[in-house]
Amino acid sequence: MGSNGRRPENTELSDPEKDLVLAHVEDIGAKCHSCGGTDFAVGDALYLGFLFRSEDQDAYMVALTCKNPDCEVPHTGVHLHRDQFLRGASHESA
Ligand SMILES: [Zn+2]
Repeated sequence: MGSNGRRPENTELSDPEKDLVLAHVEDIGAKCHSCGGTDFAVGDALYLGFLFRSEDQDAYMVALTCKNPDCEVPHTGVHLHRDQFLRGASHESA
């Protein structure tokens, strides 16, 4: 089922935004569930508020990939609020 297409509901993050995600991951001490590694590559952000009513309106799940080449299940994710990582032009003013 491999596909190069980016799903439209996913948000691609800029490098500064990825840095913010990594800073948060380090902050909360997130570890890979498979190998316990703490080195991650940041992928797309999936907006959760749209999909799940139980989520906050600004909740996102950001994909993380464990950088350990021996990791058996390298894909995980981190739960973030919009203002924790999105600093882009799409910000509505308060
Ligand atoms: Zn891992």
